[in-house]
Amino acid sequence: MHYFQFKGKELFAEDIPVKKLAKEFGTPLYIYSQKTIERHVDAYREAFKGTRHILCYAVKANSNLSILRLIGKMGAGADVISGGELFRALKAGIRPERIVYAGIGKTETEIRYALKAGILMFNVESSEELKEINRIAGMMKKKAPVALRVNPDIDAKTHPYISTGLKKHKFGIPMEEALENYLLARELKNIEIKGIHKHIGSQITEVRPFQDALKSLLLLVDELSLHGIRIKYIDMGGGLGIPYKDEEPPHPSELAREVKKLLKGRNLTLIIEPGRSIIGNAGILVTKVLYHKRTKEKNFIIVDAGMNDLIRPTLYGAYHEIVPVERHERSKIIADIVGPICESGDFFAKDREIEEPEQGDLLAIMSAGAYGFSMSSNYNSRPRAAEVMVKGNRAILVRKRETYKDLIRGEI
Ligand SMILES: *Cc1c(COP(=O)(O)O)cnc(C)c1O
Repeated sequence: MHYFQFKGKELFAEDIPVKKLAKEFGTPLYIYSQKTIERHVDAYREAFKGTRHILCYAVKANSNLSILRLIGKMGAGADVISGGELFRALKAGIRPERIVYAGIGKTETEIRYALKAGILMFNVESSEELKEINRIAGMMKKKAPVALRVNPDIDAKTHPYISTGLKKHKFGIPMEEALENYLLARELKNIEIKGIHKHIGSQITEVRPFQDALKSLLLLVDELSLHGIRIKYIDMGGGLGIPYKDEEPPHPSELAREVKKLLKGRNLTLIIEPGRSIIGNAGILVTKVLYHKRTKEKNFIIVDAGMNDLIRPTLYGAYHEIVPVERHERSKIIADIVGPICESGDFFAKDREIEEPEQGDLLAIMSAGAYGFSMSSNYNSRPRAAEVMVKGNRAILVRKRETYKDLIRGEI
């Protein structure tokens, strides 16, 4: 559920007409709904009530400072995967003891930064990384808190590019090598074993893969305990899907019900790392129709947003609902909705049925809050879009539209 709804013929962001926001802030424009974000964080909080847990929001889904601050104020921590994301999370006031740090290629600079900040734990993805963290912590005279990210070889049944928990993927330590790596970690003087981590993929629409992966983690927890290694935190990653089209992903409460069953009677603190399910449906991308090109083969609706603003359709073949910001009851056409970039991959929808728009009309690309702006770029020297947060009848510019000057900042 989200708060981008039609009132009569007009699309609203909470209590403000989207058209009004587009007029004030220009297009392309990302609009977020604060009430939707709060609702999603609350849904998780409510679902996991009674289980000791930390919600570590996955910063990569959308790393805008205002969004991080809002989620952080609700008591959440952060899941970061780079020094830059750690910087953002700390800047937004998220407490370091609620930050976990994953990623297969942490550099020495990033490891130092995280150790200095005092994060909750590194989610370590290889034995070499483990040794490197140990070495750096030694130089800094610190003990590095770690969890090992294991790869449970579970099929998340999602798009291959966002599936991460199979043996063929680059992520995590293979299950059969997990024990030897924990034994190694125990021998390393500057390492403190805190937990165990997995993340099997994104846009998962069933509870089953989560259950299976968690079960296999718990078997490992028991095996470790036979070796005298005590695990305090069990981090089940993120990955819960959202409805883009006709998917029916489980509600956090359905996921929580099964997770609670598995964790019952165990002295573990659960960490969850949702990204998409917090921010995905809480954002839209508003774009203006520039031209309508009709060829013998095709209708093209050319809009002022491009794949540099939202790359998901071309990168993952992702479906985004696209609606007119004002309904006119014009006849429908089948069209490709495309951007101005010089790439055939620059599209938002192909052969989509849509009420025929006119030049200057506004379209809203729905469910664009996650992996939208955070994956945007300056390709074709296009300044990145502005971002606005709506709360009730108030709108706050949370990121200025970039200028041509911004494009060349730092160049010589
Ligand atoms: C991307 C990622 C997440 C978030 O995934 P969502 O599908 O957005 O919930 C969580 N944890 C890790 C380690 C990730 O890489």
